[in-house]
Amino acid sequence: MKFDVVVVGAGPAGLCFARSLRGSGLSVAVVEKQPLAAIADPQFDGREIALTHASRRILEQLELWPAFAAAEISDLRDARISDGDSRHALQISAADGRSGQLGWLVPNQVIRRAAFQAVSAQDEVELVTGSGVQAVVTQGNGVAVQLEDGRQLQARLLVAADSRFSQVRRLLGVGARSRDHGTQMMVCRFRHTRPHDHVAWEWFDYGHTLALLPLNGELSSAVLTLNPAQMQRVQAMTDVELAADLQQRMRGCRGEVSLASSRHVYPLVSVYAERFVADRAALIGDAAVGMHPVTAHGFNLGLQGQARLARALLAAHRNGADIGSQAVLARYQRQHHAAAFPVYAATRAVIGLYNDERPMARWLRGTTLRLANRVPPFRRAIAAHLTQV
Ligand SMILES: Cc1cc2nc3c(=O)[nH]c(=O)nc-3n(C[C@H](O)[C@H](O)[C@H](O)COP(=O)(O)OP(=O)(O)OC[C@H]3O[C@@H](n4cnc5c(N)ncnc54)[C@H](O)[C@@H]3O)c2cc1C
Repeated sequence: MKFDVVVVGAGPAGLCFARSLRGSGLSVAVVEKQPLAAIADPQFDGREIALTHASRRILEQLELWPAFAAAEISDLRDARISDGDSRHALQISAADGRSGQLGWLVPNQVIRRAAFQAVSAQDEVELVTGSGVQAVVTQGNGVAVQLEDGRQLQARLLVAADSRFSQVRRLLGVGARSRDHGTQMMVCRFRHTRPHDHVAWEWFDYGHTLALLPLNGELSSAVLTLNPAQMQRVQAMTDVELAADLQQRMRGCRGEVSLASSRHVYPLVSVYAERFVADRAALIGDAAVGMHPVTAHGFNLGLQGQARLARALLAAHRNGADIGSQAVLARYQRQHHAAAFPVYAATRAVIGLYNDERPMARWLRGTTLRLANRVPPFRRAIAAHLTQV
């Protein structure tokens, strides 16, 4: 089977990239190892994706945003970051930015479903599901992709969007700096009796981190980071026990709490690919940059990255140039690294500071938050970053 572009991975990044190519006349295959039914009807996975203004604009351009039901979009007005028992919280307010709110929360499941429905309606896209990639061979002006079930696909450009543990990245011989944080993140929804006023909270407590994300109604998402032994204990709790545990960790700020969804646990591993491109190939989404979720930037970066690659590729296509040329790939690599690396490095610095339980680090993190809160330009810079379009 011959295509202009083969995308591996029908996650949010791969599907949004296929969507970005609509109307271009380019033929596209999207290869996904899961069966078709699993990607057509993605199940709740606990992830509530915080989207920035820039991401909303891209999702509108892709005509995906209007497919999200209004009830599934929760406003994110302000954010508060606290350290342990300290009374000082760093407050990031939408009023410091360029808009009435910092962003929006949309369930990952909703984004995946909307992207799947849009892409599966595109005539030029073929979905090749139920088999992963076994081998990749670059030959002259093209690349051959061998699937585990024996099928073979040929393309002018291969795009890897197959997660932070990307098999295609490895097959392409591209290394990655990977950091296992040694902790796990549990996400679930809970109901509560006190209103959240659409404010997100993040507590960098001692021995654990807890974030509360405001959803529509008296509903929030809890994002709890623990070491594996602590996580095992929490996982063994009944729903009632877990609700009581969360209520205590959040110091009663949401009143009475009860569980409202299944729980989902993720290992925390950050990944930054050594290159985002190879001969006739590009990496996007988590395959290029797999962020620690603490700063909620993974998919936001993935959306921007796929848009950058699509722009470079479509410009070449319009000019009758080779869509898989070194020039196209180098442009994407340069632009995406320049945008992604500062965010990745800043996130790593935050994690380093807040995972360190030594007295000096505790003092430093408390002092940093107090100072940051007293320096309006710092708060405004974060708010402006989140609200820029
Ligand atoms: C708890 C949690 C909370 C998060 N919150 C936020 C947030 O608030 N804001 C934000 O921006 N980001 C957030 N993220 C990050 C965001 O979820 C990811 O960045 C995003 O899902 C990455 O999309 P992707 O398409 O690159 O990869 P994935 O979602 O991992 O999808 C990869 C796809 O490739 C398929 N695949 C894998 N291997 C193969 C193969 N060999 N062959 C074929 N197919 C393959 C998989 O089945 C999958 O469908 C969060 C992540 C977690 C874990």
